Amino acid sequence: MIGVIFGPPGSGKGTQAARLESERHLKHLSTGEILRAEVSRGTLVGRQVKQIMAAGDLVPDGVIVDIVRQRLPEAEQGAGVLLDGFPRTVAQAEVLDEMLKAEGHSLTFVLALTVPEQELLDRILRRASVEGRPDDTREAISERMHEYRKLTAAVLDYYRKRGVRIEEVDGTGTPDQVFGRIHSQLRL
Ligand code: ADP
Repeated sequence: MIGVIFGPPGSGKGTQAARLESERHLKHLSTGEILRAEVSRGTLVGRQVKQIMAAGDLVPDGVIVDIVRQRLPEAEQGAGVLLDGFPRTVAQAEVLDEMLKAEGHSLTFVLALTVPEQELLDRILRRASVEGRPDDTREAISERMHEYRKLTAAVLDYYRKRGVRIEEVDGTGTPDQVFGRIHSQLRL
């Protein structure tokens, strides 16, 4: 089982994916977390992407594709994989299709979390005061939203056209409520 958890910044992808990992044993592959770890370790990749991420822009497709290509085969050894933060462009989605096809696999579902824009902003600003992520400033948040609308929203249309199972789940309310909806809609 290979799923994508999809949604705008602040929609709760990371929170729900972590929960699906601990309770449903789906391996959580978060490109955002991987990149943040590269930045904090000061690796070559980390040094390349630090400024881009802090500004809220998308990291080049090539960098992301290399990261996923390196980690996907091992993640696929378990019960299933949940991709979080990838694919974020149609070009990334096309590469993912090729990667999976080469192994005789295909995407099982896309779980799309929907949250109204004002609530997204409130959530990220609240998180900013707790976690202090460098891209949780007003400017970077607005750039991330812009990138989402400009490049990432099209990924959902890409999957819709290909007939991939898309489950849109209401992402408002507490993490428990959202998890309950995921459970009942996806039967996960
Ligand atoms: P959020 O969804 O809250 O914006 P993420 O942790 O998923 O946060 O991503 C943080 C940042 O990491 C993005 O703004 C972008 O700079 C970079 N990033 C993560 N995944 C990708 C990707 N698939 N393609 C390009 N950039 C990415």
